Amino acid sequence: ELFSPQRPNSKGWDLTHLPTLEAIEEARSPFHQAQWQAEPLLADKKTTSTAVVKLTNPANADDVLGQAVFANQADVEVAVNSAQPWSAEVTERAKILNRVADLYEQNFGELFALLCREAGKTLPDAVAEVREAVDFLRYYAANAIQAEAVGHFVCISPWNFPLAIFTGQISAALAAGNAVLAKPAEQAPLIAYRAVQLMHEAGVPVASMQLLIGGGDVGAMLTAQPKVQGVTFTGSTETAQSIRRNMAENLSPGAPLIAETGGLNAMIVDSTALLEQAVSAVIESAFQSAGQRCSALRCLYVQADILDEFTEMLFGAMAELTLGDPWQLSTDIGPVIDAEALANIESAVDKAEQQGRLLKLMPSSDQGTFIGPAVIRVDSISDIEKEIFGPVLHIASFKNHQLAQVVDDINATGYGLTFGVQTRIDNRVQWLSEHIEAGNIYVNRNQIGAIVGSQPFGGHGLSGTGPKAGGPNYLKRFYRNAVAETA
Ligand code: GLU
Repeated sequence: ELFSPQRPNSKGWDLTHLPTLEAIEEARSPFHQAQWQAEPLLADKKTTSTAVVKLTNPANADDVLGQAVFANQADVEVAVNSAQPWSAEVTERAKILNRVADLYEQNFGELFALLCREAGKTLPDAVAEVREAVDFLRYYAANAIQAEAVGHFVCISPWNFPLAIFTGQISAALAAGNAVLAKPAEQAPLIAYRAVQLMHEAGVPVASMQLLIGGGDVGAMLTAQPKVQGVTFTGSTETAQSIRRNMAENLSPGAPLIAETGGLNAMIVDSTALLEQAVSAVIESAFQSAGQRCSALRCLYVQADILDEFTEMLFGAMAELTLGDPWQLSTDIGPVIDAEALANIESAVDKAEQQGRLLKLMPSSDQGTFIGPAVIRVDSISDIEKEIFGPVLHIASFKNHQLAQVVDDINATGYGLTFGVQTRIDNRVQWLSEHIEAGNIYVNRNQIGAIVGSQPFGGHGLSGTGPKAGGPNYLKRFYRNAVAETA
């Protein structure tokens, strides 16, 4: 079921292949200075809102991308009242969703440019993101069944995967035949708008796919509409809790909430690990995408007898990372999403510095919302107050006899998203995978970048409700229960 032959993943773009790189440069360069306009896309009328927000590049505030009109209460009501579940046959819906995937692949230059300039994505991150979005479309299209949809589904998505998670939520809801009311992150509405235009162009009816641009207030208005029958959300644990309260007060009691939330993800490196491999896995897991993934590594446990050697290698590797304009191929680490995010990360780093726990802070940049990767020493994961959503890694050490305690401490955070282990002791892998409470466990590799269809992604506890995205159970939640159980 997982490796269905009717569901080939996107081939993507091979950045080590020179002609491919040249084709990417040619396709994205017209969008290096382009501007976009976005507004709510409603079935019945045009927006009546006059709230216009200017969007700029997080790497450079002088680079203006355009503007977006944020929805108002009247827009939300128009959208909900005009929404129509997608009544086309399942095969027709699947065909159209596959066409959306094709349009994404054809418009790769513009999508890469938007991911870079609106969300600060490096080119490898942008490539991975378009691929993931395409994979979600094809995967849910291939797994859809003819059954009764839940009805009106609200999809609220985050800025850190403004195309992939946005598309993942929507494509599942649409594949099942729901009417979608999508509320993208306020930091990245332009790419969401282009994506919805491509969906409409492919044949998704406007009444089944409406876009409500805006901030948390628009999300709150949507999830308080009694006609809404289900909500899928990716973002912070606190926002998920407030959505649930809102739904409890206003929606029917059975309305499903699918939430993918935060993490406080750990990795254990023991003294049998291959150190070069462990270092590169840590660098990728903690610092790729400037650490702005819920799957990112936050707390690394290194066995005490290799701690010095490991740390020296890690700092050496960190010194090689290039921070800067994510459009440049030489850039490893782009900006964080905005000034507010930067201030939060900086205050956590400052606090660690005052406590004498800041082991390393790489240089930043004066322009844009950048922060250099940082390493903070802790005794245990329980010393970390909360998830810092940026390139900040905590390091603790452990002795062999403390391993069970380490696992208890990791589980005691209440999160349970990703976990990584670097070891060459096979029964340790087995033991850890039985005792660690995490949705995704990665062995001797990095712990980010789950692949749709092969590595269903999602966690437990404070990390979310399940079911895992990109896996066989996700789509079932978008049908009415009785049918879903037999599906
Ligand atoms: N699915 C992504 C990954 O595995 C993370 C999603 C998120 O950050 O919300 O890296």
